[in-house]
Amino acid sequence: MTGSSEGLTRSLGLLSVVAPVYNEEGTIGEFYARVCVALEGLPFELVLVDDGSTDGSAVELDRLAAGDPRVRLVSLSRNFGHQTALTAGLDHARGDAVVMLDADLQDPPELILRMLDHWRAGCDVVYAVRQQREGESRFKLTTAVWFYRLFDRLAQVELQHNSGDFRLLDRAPLDALLSMRERNRFLRGMTVWVGYTQAAVPYRRDPRYAGKTKYTISRMVRFSLDAISSFSHRPLQLATLLGFVISTLAFIAIPVVIALRILGSYLPGFSSITIAVLLLGGIQLIALGIIGEYIGRIYDEVKGRPLYLVRSRKNIADLDVPADPAPPLAARHTPDE
Ligand code: UDP
Ligand code: MG
Repeated sequence: MTGSSEGLTRSLGLLSVVAPVYNEEGTIGEFYARVCVALEGLPFELVLVDDGSTDGSAVELDRLAAGDPRVRLVSLSRNFGHQTALTAGLDHARGDAVVMLDADLQDPPELILRMLDHWRAGCDVVYAVRQQREGESRFKLTTAVWFYRLFDRLAQVELQHNSGDFRLLDRAPLDALLSMRERNRFLRGMTVWVGYTQAAVPYRRDPRYAGKTKYTISRMVRFSLDAISSFSHRPLQLATLLGFVISTLAFIAIPVVIALRILGSYLPGFSSITIAVLLLGGIQLIALGIIGEYIGRIYDEVKGRPLYLVRSRKNIADLDVPADPAPPLAARHTPDE
């Protein structure tokens, strides 16, 4: 634990549990049941976000919402992706404390009680750290290790290894998080960035209850690029550094070539020149590509589109519908006359 205020105990008015759902028809019923048992006796709401599911999840979610007013349902107009769906759920949460977790039961809902203990003791952000991960491929585990190493080197926030999005936030850090409306969202980095007092609880990550992972390799690559680009400018600086190193080499080469000429040694040099040209061309293209990644993201931000669109809401009063904190860019401009 990095800190908590001694002697302070918070009392819980309402706990919001937020989970994104994308094609989880086989899991959703069991997930609901386990959350209800785990949180029995506590005042809680379960905010479920249907991220454009195409299987029977929507029917299942409607059934849950019809049978239990604590289940509050936000259905997005299409699939917006895990991080955005989570954000939509957080936007609709009304609790003093909010927990986000996956709906596939890899994050055990029973752990929420331990997180709440930390929150009651004054901790603002409580994240769950995976001690063991069961039922995940070797490939996923190895790439995760590589990703965290790279992120550590490049990024300015210190990320706890082996912690996912399973965490509890107090209202204050949550509001801070919700004021950050960037499109490329890496929520676990953003919750560290906001600061406040943070604590960790260890847990064992279970295998998926049913269905299969929605993170394909290309989605994982995209997610990692989003994570790094939203917390680091280092890759851009790297291009400058490489430029300097290679120019220095060229400057050293000039007197060497002149000296060799004067001394009468003739260099055929065709292949070495080809290699140099190809190498330089490659490095330049890579640098351009890196810049392109950032420009593409700037373009996404500048368009100022809403993060997500809601198709329908259930058990959510009109009063509780969040106003979009980031209106479209056009609305923000005042004509200069
Ligand atoms: N999910 C989502 N939208 C997506 C992909 C996933 O809402 O586009 C949800 C999914 O239903 C699950 C959670 O995000 O509740 C985590 O996804 P998944 O289990 O596939 O990821 P993994 O645990 O394999 O990293
Ligand atoms: Mg999962």
